[in-house]
Amino acid sequence: MKILSVCLSLFLGLTAQAQSSIDSLQLIKDIRTLSLDKFEGRRAGSKGSRMAQFYLRDRFKEIGIQPYHNTFEYPFYFQDGDKQTMGTNLFGYIKGKSDSVIVVSAHYDHLGIKKGQAGKDSIYNGADDNASGVGGLLSIATYFKKHPPEHTLLFVSFDGEEEGLQGAKAFVKQPPVSASLIMLNINMDMLSRNDKNELYVCGLTPFPRLKSYVDAATAGQSKVKLLSGHDRKEDGAQNWINQSDHYEFYKLKIPFLYFGVEDHPDYHQLSDEFEHIQPSFYYQAVQHVLKVLQAADKGI
Ligand SMILES: [Zn+2]
Repeated sequence: MKILSVCLSLFLGLTAQAQSSIDSLQLIKDIRTLSLDKFEGRRAGSKGSRMAQFYLRDRFKEIGIQPYHNTFEYPFYFQDGDKQTMGTNLFGYIKGKSDSVIVVSAHYDHLGIKKGQAGKDSIYNGADDNASGVGGLLSIATYFKKHPPEHTLLFVSFDGEEEGLQGAKAFVKQPPVSASLIMLNINMDMLSRNDKNELYVCGLTPFPRLKSYVDAATAGQSKVKLLSGHDRKEDGAQNWINQSDHYEFYKLKIPFLYFGVEDHPDYHQLSDEFEHIQPSFYYQAVQHVLKVLQAADKGI
């Protein structure tokens, strides 16, 4: 195990200091596990989704995230075409010194099983979309369990994002804390690969006062460039403000920062598999998110 850990660390090109912040081995283990065929592409309401919920519930417990009402699982219903589907959000918190809350989110659902070519069933494993965000969420929670935050951090893994941000809609309708206590949403959706080594943070155009937190991350040395963008009307089709769960917070005028990469050829394809992620990029992308969150936690 030790040798494996050293090898992976060398492979990821990590410094000793970086190793003390995020557990790279566990990060890769979580994204690999959630991308396995046994989770059947994690479509909301499916057996595979239920399996993913068990995995996440066990990881939340292991990390020491606190449940709000003795459970991490919060079911909700939504209309999916002509049928009612039950989705399940998972969430819990790490208590800070103040009651104000930062919501850290990543959807765990994906497209499930579809009829592929030649009528064969095919599993859309969604490694980048969005096992990567969930792995990031778990590793950041692990960090803050060991380094208690100023604000209460509410970690939420949404269901039904692919069916129209259904989990986020259900969450903001009935949040576990008053919405007026939610200072910020940090959302992660697709952050494990980019051929240009670019990660985007979206949200600074509508919320420019968050820039100092992003600057805290861009100041350090990293092979992954953190770029601001995709958040102005002029961006047209490339405006990401309504493209993932942060949109439901935005609609309530709650500031958000969304982290993600530009679309790649495997986006929403069968080929969005663990083998195609870029571990070094992924690790450093999560490091950027952690740094921004650390700055926001101290600075808000
Ligand atoms: Zn997604």
